[in-house]
Amino acid sequence: MKIAILSDIHANLEALTAVLRSIARRGCDRVICLGDIVGYGPDPNACVVMVQERADWVVQGNHDRAAIGLLDLADFNDHARQAITWTAEELSQDAKVFLRGLPPVCQVEGSLCVHACPYEPLEWDYILAVSQAFLQFRHFDEQVCFIGHSHVPVSFRWDGNQMSRSSQWPVQMDREARYIINVGSVGQPRDGNPQAAFGIWQPKKRLFELCRVAYDVHAVQEKMRRLPLPVYLIERIAYGH
Ligand code: ZN
Repeated sequence: MKIAILSDIHANLEALTAVLRSIARRGCDRVICLGDIVGYGPDPNACVVMVQERADWVVQGNHDRAAIGLLDLADFNDHARQAITWTAEELSQDAKVFLRGLPPVCQVEGSLCVHACPYEPLEWDYILAVSQAFLQFRHFDEQVCFIGHSHVPVSFRWDGNQMSRSSQWPVQMDREARYIINVGSVGQPRDGNPQAAFGIWQPKKRLFELCRVAYDVHAVQEKMRRLPLPVYLIERIAYGH
């Protein structure tokens, strides 16, 4: 079984479309979405509909919650807040109902899937350093936990003795070790590579691959320029920062 894992789409329809095309070509059986379907980008409703149609499991992200009024906007920086305010007005009733109904975590084929972190998923803590990952391993029992949130693909490995961090792909998981894997961002990558990122996980083979796919960044920027979205958000998708 091949399971595609997508996160942080952020209303970028061009990136999502390119990723879904790539997923179909690579013969993925199932799709997991780790949240932040909306926020930042110009196509929140179309992205919600597409995720609703194509994803088998979806969890809620902090931008999804904020856009339906369930998170205090004071927790976000100015650019994010501006985009969330626009998104909240733009979202259809159906999209809001869908986002509201999403769970904070789900379990798929022996993995835990969550937007930010297994410990208190609704606190939205970032897992960036080995020390932060170390604290999280005791808060889930599965062999692997898939996350998004930081928009930077990375894997952490814990063998009961030692912790390590890697941005080398693919990850061939050892039977006796446990992992936290950040699958990166479809719609707003921040690792210096503007191409949309997503993961393909083969649970039986214990193999995780990170995939990148180019999309029409310029078209997204053109749409964003016609909307009340911050220039900073328009520019950053071209650089992947
Ligand atoms: Zn995000």
